[in-house]
Amino acid sequence: MKTVLITGAARGIGAAAAEKFAEAGYQVVINYLHSAEKAEALAARWPGRALAVQADVADPAQVEAMFAAAEQAFGGVDVLVCNAGIAAQQLFTDVTDEEWRRMLDVHLSGAFYCCRRALPHMIHQKWGRILTVSSMWGQVGGSCEVAYSAAKAGLIGLTKALAKEEGPSGVTVNCVAPGVIDTDMMSSFSAEDKAALAEETPLGALGTPKQVADALVFLAGDGASYITGQVLGVNGGLVT
Ligand code: NAP
Repeated sequence: MKTVLITGAARGIGAAAAEKFAEAGYQVVINYLHSAEKAEALAARWPGRALAVQADVADPAQVEAMFAAAEQAFGGVDVLVCNAGIAAQQLFTDVTDEEWRRMLDVHLSGAFYCCRRALPHMIHQKWGRILTVSSMWGQVGGSCEVAYSAAKAGLIGLTKALAKEEGPSGVTVNCVAPGVIDTDMMSSFSAEDKAALAEETPLGALGTPKQVADALVFLAGDGASYITGQVLGVNGGLVT
């Protein structure tokens, strides 16, 4: 049985991914930072096959402890999903040093720490799947989300370069770039804002966490064995 570790998996896209991977027969490591109750409740749905582990992905020592816990429970991690993220809408000139650093630490350094820790096992077994969750703003840039867009663009660069480096070891590295997905991350948007965004979207609706999770499960599966270094937009046609 394969093991997937999903960062930021207590809520939103990560939780939907945990559910889809569990339904597909994986052992699931559900990482969380603050949402302990939600993570434990999710893990309890698949007794013996799911584990909730707290870790701030921006802290390499906590990432190390999380992987050690995963390995103790299930052996090595076969599929890594770097999903944890934070958002902030603000003028570029208002971004403080601390806010800039935290944005890059969570999204980009977090993925670096997790990939670096996951790879030796994947390389040893000559099989692994790494999936990063970027954003359409990482592809085209978002006004008032410069730090977020920069971090997400960095994740796309990490994905493409790492795919080249790890291809010979049997490890694929791909990125999913969601568009506007209706999760807590959108909670600062009013119903009118959301309706306007849906109208702008060619498919006429906001995305759901499950639709992003479907893409993640596909990229981890046998049907995607010749796909690496790619960015798959799950955005209803908003960015092409
Ligand atoms: P969400 O509902 O706000 O969930 C964010 C998740 O990230 C939470 O589970 C949170 O955990 C976790 N997290 C945040 N900082 C963390 C840290 N330092 N260490 C570990 N976990 C951390 O957001 P979402 O919409 O599902 O977003 C998931 C990913 O998709 C993010 O990378 C986001 O940038 C990306 N994305 C979202 C959208 C969208 O429209 N929603 C669009 C494009 C890309 P706790 O609750 O435990 O703190």
